[in-house]
Formats: sequence, C-alpha cells, structure tokens
Amino acid sequence: MKTIAIANQKGGVGKTTTAFNLARCLTDLSKKVLLVDLDPQANLTLCFGVEFPDELPYTVNDLLTCAMSNKSYPPLEEVVLTTEGIDLIPSSIDLSASELALAYTMSREMVLKKVLRLFADKYDYILIDCAPSLSLLTVNALTAADSVLVTTLAEFFSAKGLELFFSSVQNIRNNTNPSLAVEGVLLTMFDSRPSESREVQRLIQTLYGEAVRVYDTYIPRASSVNEANHAASSITQYKAASKPAIMYKAFAEEFLREEQEKNGQ
Ligand code: ADP
Ligand code: MG
Repeated sequence: MKTIAIANQKGGVGKTTTAFNLARCLTDLSKKVLLVDLDPQANLTLCFGVEFPDELPYTVNDLLTCAMSNKSYPPLEEVVLTTEGIDLIPSSIDLSASELALAYTMSREMVLKKVLRLFADKYDYILIDCAPSLSLLTVNALTAADSVLVTTLAEFFSAKGLELFFSSVQNIRNNTNPSLAVEGVLLTMFDSRPSESREVQRLIQTLYGEAVRVYDTYIPRASSVNEANHAASSITQYKAASKPAIMYKAFAEEFLREEQEKNGQ
C-alpha cells in the first residue's frame, strides 16, 4: 500500500481532476484505490455525484474529529462512498472546522496519518486530494503520505511557483516525515505544441534538479474534461477516444511503470 498526496498550493492546476481520473485508470488496471477528499471545497466529492456534501452523514471531518478527541470512529463502511469500484472518503465545508481545531491539538500534523491507518490493509493506493494551500490540512496530508504528486500548469510562473511548494516539502522532511518522496510532476491543461512540454520539463529540471521527475505524459486542455467533471464522470468514461482520456490512461501506465522500476521489479 502506498499513500500519495496530490498537491500544489495553487488552485486550478488540475489536482482534483487528476486524483479522480488517476483513480479511475488505476482501478481499470486492477488496482484497489481509496480517494481522500481533503479540501473543504469538496470538489472531488462532487465528482462522485454528491450534490450536497454538507448533507452527507459522515465526512473526513468526522474521522479527524474522532482522532483528535480519541472518540470511537463511526462505522467506516458508512463513511466511505463507492462509485464503480473506487472508494472515497468525502469532504464538505465542515472540514474547515477541523482545520481550526487541528491548531489546538497535540501532534497536530499526525492526525490524518492516524486516521488512514484504519484503511491501510485494504488498498493498493490511497490518493489524497489536497486543498490549494499549505494549511495544516495539507501538512497532515504530506505527513501521512509516502510521496507527493504535484500537478502544475505548463507555464513559467507556475513552474516558478513550485519553489515555495518544494521548500514546504523540505520543511515536512525536516520535521514530520523524513522519508517523504516527490513522486513526480504532471503538466496539466497543456495547450501549446507538444515540443513545448519538453521545454517546461527542462525548465523544471533546471530549477529543481534531476531529482524532481517530470512525467513524459502531459494532460492536454480540452473542454470535455470540464464537462466530464460536471457530469460526475471520468474523462475515460465520458469520452474514451478524446486526447485527454488517452493521456490520462497513458499517465496511469507511466505512473505504474515508474513504481515498478522503483520497486526493482
Ligand atoms: P485544482 O484541484 O488544482 O483546483 P481542478 O482539477 O479542480 O484543479 O481543475 C480546475 C478547473 O479546470 C476545473 O473546472 C476543471 O474542470 C478544469 N480542468 C481540469 N483539467 C482540465 C483539462 N485538462 N482541460 C480543461 N479543463 C480542465
Ligand atoms: Mg481541487
């Protein structure tokens, strides 16, 4: 089992879309995936077709609250939502209350890690969709994770903006999670010529060194992705022959190839 945080302090860079579609593609490749929505905006929960997240009986907020107060957890099968083979711990605006409560809790960076232990033996991958900030919630995600998958737009300011993000990753390593790895950087909403993705790849490599891997696969910008999200469908199911569907599949395959190489298989 591997836990991966999908993060970037910027919003609108394809984190949620990537969490949802990577989970779909990995599930199609026979992996068992748990998604965790760790954003009070609950966009990933909306992708699961939940219209009113604040009306859900339980969300990730309840699990964090129980962990913080050492109360017993609600039945986990009543917390987890399942759609077409993918499990989700949903979120709602209530999560912003946890964010405040965390600040006054002992070992406040470790609370999500404690919660995710409850799920460890059932999954191949736990993917955490982070909020667009470096808040305590994101710190919890990076502390619970084995690695972080960064999504970014393929443009100069976004690439430069990763500097702040990688310095937080270093901070986490120094303080709460020494073994946190950078899984890789995925370029999303790409709308230039394919050769330009190589230039951004090189730019990121120059800025952050060879240790930060930029995936060869990038996700093109296409309105169908937005439509699929609105229809609570993965792009591979919504429009299987579209470029972004093909590229999300290719990305999942590249992701798994890298995993196998890392594990020396
Ligand atoms: P984040 O989670 O980083 O804020 P999202 O995944 O929510 O980013 O994406 C931001 C917006 O861009 C959403 O409206 C989403 O539907 C849209 N979007 C994401 N990926 C693509 C893409 N490849 N092409 C077009 N629109 C996209
Ligand atoms: Mg999001």
